[in-house]
Amino acid sequence: MEKERFPAPAPAPEATARERRMYINRVRAWRTRTLHALEQLCHGASDRSSCPPRAVTFLTWMLADWWSEDDRSRASGSPYNIRPFPAALADRSVEDDIAAVLAWRATFVDLLSDIWDVLGHPDLDLDECLWIGGWLAPSSNQKFCRYCLRPLADEDPRIAAHQCIYLGEVRAKWPTPPTG
Ligand SMILES: [Zn+2]
Repeated sequence: MEKERFPAPAPAPEATARERRMYINRVRAWRTRTLHALEQLCHGASDRSSCPPRAVTFLTWMLADWWSEDDRSRASGSPYNIRPFPAALADRSVEDDIAAVLAWRATFVDLLSDIWDVLGHPDLDLDECLWIGGWLAPSSNQKFCRYCLRPLADEDPRIAAHQCIYLGEVRAKWPTPPTG
């Protein structure tokens, strides 16, 4: 089945209010279409052969805009700064809405990059992480920052080089490396 791809690029700092609104609408439509596609997968309406059940369950959970108390405490005990999908709030500006959604995405991109590599029994294996990552990735071949989804300069495509505004968000709960 064709995966829904996360809209990119994210609006530039100089984007107009209209462009920002269009972007957040595309992101919310992406979430709706993705949830619909996952539901089809669960109910066997689509081809299940390429559908890892744990990954479907996890992505559906990621996209929920409400988490139970258990979910929240599981998330707060994890080194990843994850949270439920930011619900549309009437009193939040479009800028803040976009920032909330991109921060949500960035923390899950971080989780998927290494959760398969933990000791013991990881929640997801590498193939499952790649499968979920496919939905979060933009469809374009252009090089984007994996966190803020702004195009990266060809001459220096490192995320750190452009001082990504979401790095702090992603690393907020990373363990401090031992010193000495
Ligand atoms: Zn960035």
